[in-house]
Amino acid sequence: MDSTPRDPAFYVERLKGLLQSSSRAVAFTGAGVSEESGIPTFRGKGGLWDRYPPSLYANPAGLMLLFLVRPSWMAAFFSDILDSLLRAKPNPCHRVIAQWEEEGFIKAVITQNVDDLHSTAGSVNVYELHGNAFRVRCVRCGDREKLARERLLETAKKLNEAPQSRRSLLRLFFDFGGSCRACGGRRRPDVVLFGEGLPQEEWDRALRLATEADLFMVIGTSSLVYPAALLPRIAAESDARIVEINPEPTPVSSLAALRIPFPAGKFFSLFDVS
Ligand code: NAD
Ligand code: ZN
Repeated sequence: MDSTPRDPAFYVERLKGLLQSSSRAVAFTGAGVSEESGIPTFRGKGGLWDRYPPSLYANPAGLMLLFLVRPSWMAAFFSDILDSLLRAKPNPCHRVIAQWEEEGFIKAVITQNVDDLHSTAGSVNVYELHGNAFRVRCVRCGDREKLARERLLETAKKLNEAPQSRRSLLRLFFDFGGSCRACGGRRRPDVVLFGEGLPQEEWDRALRLATEADLFMVIGTSSLVYPAALLPRIAAESDARIVEINPEPTPVSSLAALRIPFPAGKFFSLFDVS
């Protein structure tokens, strides 16, 4: 018989206790924290890979094939992602994490998300391991710039104008980035694509935070995407207590001192500050 308590209040009290007895707590988040903001995850029920086969959409070779033979399918995939990013608003999980940082209960949030929702909610020390979909980066000098929302809305609108050809997709991609204000170089979306390396500064900082943490909260991530998935293991080996908040078990569950089996937005609404 499952002996896991089902009353969320039990977990609220346990988590409060852990937070109060820690001095270097860190939140580590994945796509699941934004699921209740309307952004689909990749994996799990209702995830993008249910609708878009990962054999085609989750690797550079598959995406190249799509671009060559079915550019309109590729446009539909990007349009789907962009539409949800543009519509999303922070949920109680993003808001409570921001509030806990302001109150000094947590040091930082390390996220794998590209949706900007932690910063929108007010978090300041945010380390984005996979970049930010609302930013572009110069391929020559690395200068980064936040894009106006209107620019993304315009791109989403154009992506929805069917049918897309290879030529129109390429034009859209180049127009989206524009040229660098510092050196005139070409710019691309500042997100880490499949098979690409992580931004060095963010990764170094995340490693340090994981090594120094005494409480490491792993929220809404399948912990299957490397190297980010190493962080909970590094934190555990450095003697941090691990808390996992995820309705589904993951490879991190066996490391967790406390596993909270609820959707993050619903659970954090019990602490909500707004
Ligand atoms: P993932 O898609 O691999 O896994 C999502 C996890 O979230 C699953 O374990 C699932 O059980 C859990 N989950 C689903 N709904 C939840 C909820 N309401 N509350 C708590 N947990 C919930 O996501 P990942 O581990 O972050 O890795 C996927 C990669 O894709 C990451 O690199 C991420 O950057 C990227 N991604 C980002 C976004 C975003 O920016 N919002 C969305 C999709 C994918
Ligand atoms: Zn430049």
